[in-house]
Amino acid sequence: MHDLDNVAIVANDGGLPAGTVLADGLVLRDAVPQGHKVALVDLPAGSPVLRYHVSIGLAAKDIPAGSWVHERLLQMPEARELTGLPMATRAAPPMPPLAGYSFEGFRNADGSVGTRNILAITTTVQCVAGVVDFAVQRIKAELLPRYPNVDDVVGLEHTYGCGVAIDAPDAIIPIRTLRNISLNPNFGGEVMVVSLGCEKLQPERLLPPGTISIRDERGAVTGPDTLDVVCLQAEAHVGFMSMIDSIMTTARAHLERLDRRRRETCPASELVVGVQCGGSDAFSGVTANPAVGFATDLLVRAGASVMFSETTEVRDGIAQLTARASTPEIAEAMVREMAWYDAYLQKGRVDRSANTTPGNKKGGLSNIVEKAMGSIVKSGSAPITGVLSPGEKLATKGLTYAATPASDFICGTLQLAAGMNLHIFTTGRGTPYGLAECPVIKVATRSDLARRWHDLMDVNAGRIADGDATIEDVGWELFRLMLDVASGRTKTWAERWKLHNALVLFNPAPVT
Ligand code: CA
Repeated sequence: MHDLDNVAIVANDGGLPAGTVLADGLVLRDAVPQGHKVALVDLPAGSPVLRYHVSIGLAAKDIPAGSWVHERLLQMPEARELTGLPMATRAAPPMPPLAGYSFEGFRNADGSVGTRNILAITTTVQCVAGVVDFAVQRIKAELLPRYPNVDDVVGLEHTYGCGVAIDAPDAIIPIRTLRNISLNPNFGGEVMVVSLGCEKLQPERLLPPGTISIRDERGAVTGPDTLDVVCLQAEAHVGFMSMIDSIMTTARAHLERLDRRRRETCPASELVVGVQCGGSDAFSGVTANPAVGFATDLLVRAGASVMFSETTEVRDGIAQLTARASTPEIAEAMVREMAWYDAYLQKGRVDRSANTTPGNKKGGLSNIVEKAMGSIVKSGSAPITGVLSPGEKLATKGLTYAATPASDFICGTLQLAAGMNLHIFTTGRGTPYGLAECPVIKVATRSDLARRWHDLMDVNAGRIADGDATIEDVGWELFRLMLDVASGRTKTWAERWKLHNALVLFNPAPVT
């Protein structure tokens, strides 16, 4: 990955046997699985093991050249302290504007643009989930066919809303997350809520006056922003079917307005793209994530908004990130988010090393430092011009660090709250991840995975390791695919199979 690295990874499918002579004459002393590291030189005990030109650990004992450098041979370094960091010190690389790229999107009254036209039914509490699911099935079967311009109906289910310490300071995170998801550009501003009645998270607390407004066809505000709420405990409801009828009647009014919308040509700058990875392997930082990073730079050059996230997977690269911040204030905001997360992990008596999975390690990633160095490259090379706390809504263009846990579902949920209208997801081990609220383009890090999961993976970045494509080739392919998917011309595999994961709210506050 870098000329000064003292390890490299085996790219070959199936790995390589002991005794293999590499092109430069190095002989493998051990059998080395695919994606795992080989010592390129003798590594004395205690010396730094360098990948991406970063120490991913110290050699636990003498490691002769040609050896398999696995996790048990590495002592993981401590996380860098959050003091004395380079703050906004790196000059921005030249990034000439990229003009002339557009997609067909649904323009909203608030100026945002949807890539899908979806009726979302907001819920205040988990208690109503079964009823909402029943209603959604009936809406899909009986109403949706009458509104051909509406793509889908989605119940925004979650486990929050009651049985929680709703006045705890950190309760603001799940509450604003749910609020901001209801306002995601893919839902056209057509907010409707199903509430139980006795829950702690009352509809007015979730969506206070002023959050939404009633608008006419041209987007002009026409009335007071009374929330459209179906309350299951309302005395008017006699019997289950009365609740379902009430939800369906309310849904019909919103579907009629959504159905009148049409796609229009919008500049690529209206894209709000969230990038993340899941089921990573040692190829993630070699193929898929660099290609995503290249596409991230293209998006920034086109004036779009791009978010990268996953705090535990960038924590070890904090010095790179603070250096790339556009101003000292942005760098300080990033440090604040990292410090908050360090404290959050500490409360649970773990640190960022709790992140790695058995699959990561099988895929060659020895520890969180190595994983982070591969993960961070998704952010490309643009200056970081924004920082969001979990659940906040994005209001700026360019590259933003949206602080979220690395958990795929929580990260995706928080990026939706930020206003994401397109999601890019890289995977090496393979995950069938998807979201009902927004299209997810999945990028495979290895050709073997892309071959076996040919009807789940949208892009094969493994061709970079095979020598059949460059990072730039795959980055451009991904960028063009983003415009096609955003326009609805191409459906992702997850959309075609209707695969999606549940929303998972990040609730760092106590439950009761
Ligand atoms: Ca993730």
